[in-house]
Amino acid sequence: MRKIKKINKCRLCESRELSKMLDFGSLPLGNDLALNARQSKSKISYRLVLNNCNSCNHFQLGHEVHSKKLFATNYTYLTGVAPSFINHFKNYADWIVNRCHLKKNDIVLDIGSNDGTCLKAFKKKKLKVIGIDPAILPSKIANSNRIFTYNKFFNESSAKKIRNDFGEVDFITSHNVLAHVNEIKNVFSNILYLLKNNGYFCFEVGYFVNVVEKNLFDTIYHEHLDYHHANPIVLFLNKIGFQVINISTNSVQGGTLRVLCKKSTEQNSQQVSKFLSNERKKSIYNKKHMSQWQKKIQQKMLRLNKFVTSKINENFTVYGYGAPTKAVLLLKLSKLSKSGIQYTIEDNKLKINKFIPQSSIEIVNFKKIIINKPNYLIIFAWNFVDDIVDKLKSKKIKNIKIIVPLPDLRTITL
Ligand SMILES: [Zn+2]
Repeated sequence: MRKIKKINKCRLCESRELSKMLDFGSLPLGNDLALNARQSKSKISYRLVLNNCNSCNHFQLGHEVHSKKLFATNYTYLTGVAPSFINHFKNYADWIVNRCHLKKNDIVLDIGSNDGTCLKAFKKKKLKVIGIDPAILPSKIANSNRIFTYNKFFNESSAKKIRNDFGEVDFITSHNVLAHVNEIKNVFSNILYLLKNNGYFCFEVGYFVNVVEKNLFDTIYHEHLDYHHANPIVLFLNKIGFQVINISTNSVQGGTLRVLCKKSTEQNSQQVSKFLSNERKKSIYNKKHMSQWQKKIQQKMLRLNKFVTSKINENFTVYGYGAPTKAVLLLKLSKLSKSGIQYTIEDNKLKINKFIPQSSIEIVNFKKIIINKPNYLIIFAWNFVDDIVDKLKSKKIKNIKIIVPLPDLRTITL
């Protein structure tokens, strides 16, 4: 079985007119944590290229790593770990129940439900909840918390199983999953098949307009095949059989696009048309801006490298904070992988005592800060910087400087 294949046509509109936007060379899979330093060095690298569709302007990776390789047992991301997520989902459930007129015992399905954090918010509102997630451990955690979860990939056969078990559902939700899926068209068709007529489907994905405008390029990695903005996705949704009724953005994960649609062939709402025409004025549609992007990224990473290596050369100790998937790209582009960062602190227990692939940085628990008292912490999980600073303050950690690498390099003194 080949582990990687080229993607030759647009995953949304099927055009073969693709042009290369970014080329990051080859790097290991960010979730493929190693058990020891030696194994870390020998992790396989895969090409990471970002293409742009000349026809619908969709952005997607140039290559696809075999999904078994991506999501096997090493998928260690747990939603419930970050407090800001819990709050986000509470507000989300409030908004959806109100907006879609959901009532007691209506059925909610979450695709890529992880540890059930989102569904918990709906269960509290007395809705019936079903989760589905291919990762073993998060599914187990969800089930042990009485959030019924299928440990399966969402595909035609699991969609049939859900419909057999529960019938058609009232509302389907999905968060930051639809950028991962292999056959995006099939996924949306299966969602349509599972929904009642006039049932609602709402999804949140990283908003690529923010990625471009704020230079959040480390959100580009092998697990994410698609980098969505509203225009291409709305075109695609309408073709499949969805009416789009509301589009909004929020600041979760550095910028999220929320699309609410309905199983209906009626016209999109006026709010949606307005959103689409505003979006077409953004830099994501500016060819010149986009062609200079790679150069800008390189400059940013060079600055980060100079800053961190100067501190290391002055004999300060620099630790990382967080071991997110995206750390691998940041480490590679900033050439910090061999800089002498020995440890990175992590709150997710599943990752502790493992190693970031290729860089051999060991993932350790919070106590390491208290014992070793590093001078600097570079926040690899920069999107959670507020949570991290709060935690450091609550543990009374002092005399430490925080380096936030993105969107703009800055330091915070505690
Ligand atoms: Zn396209």
